[in-house]
Amino acid sequence: MIAHADTDGAPRRKHGALYRFLMPWVWLTLFVIVFYTIRVRDPRVSTEYPAYLPGAAVELPEYVRENLLTQNPYSRPGTYLRKINGVVIHYVGNPGSTAGANRNYFESLSDGRLNTYASSHFIVGLEGETIQCIPLTEIAYASNDRNADTISVEVCHPDAGGKFYDVTYQKVAELTGWLCWKFDLDPSSDVIRHYDVNGKRCPLYYVEHPDAWEALRGDIAAVKARLVAKAAEEAAKEAE
Ligand SMILES: [Zn+2]
Repeated sequence: MIAHADTDGAPRRKHGALYRFLMPWVWLTLFVIVFYTIRVRDPRVSTEYPAYLPGAAVELPEYVRENLLTQNPYSRPGTYLRKINGVVIHYVGNPGSTAGANRNYFESLSDGRLNTYASSHFIVGLEGETIQCIPLTEIAYASNDRNADTISVEVCHPDAGGKFYDVTYQKVAELTGWLCWKFDLDPSSDVIRHYDVNGKRCPLYYVEHPDAWEALRGDIAAVKARLVAKAAEEAAKEAE
């Protein structure tokens, strides 16, 4: 005997135990696929790097424009940056050039014709525009012996003296302070000049004016302190 029958005589099918068992898994699978598609498509939250890299899945400040170099042996070798122990500040040494022009120069090295190895994680420009060329999970070719454990920041300048414009200086302090906060670095010892790595006179003005360099470190420390306080405030609010 059939309990429920339609008028045409076919028995109405009720959802079986197997169906009820499978449906939550189907929904879960769909959710995971959608979730990962969104994450992988968002360039600011990359999942293509292993989580043990300190720079993996780090969300950058909104003022950073990502314009990554293509992977190549001369400027973006794709080598994992396994530790982040410091930030190295540079100047581009090409007066009046923009951040975009310097980024394109690094990209142009990829064909190997100049046989030059050079790049930087970030470039801060004459108007404070900030470009990221290399992900925080990979090394750049900027700081010689410290390429393997530091983030590099190249800075544009208007003339041969190498002093940064104020708007550029502020953005260098902001970005480097953010890096110090994110990777728990001490601005008074972990933020260094290229000069401190191998004696190269870079960034020139801040090699010739050690007081200006110490002032920049102080401004970086102030940014870090502000971000630490803000994070503590937000954590306290969340705990309420
Ligand atoms: Zn340098």
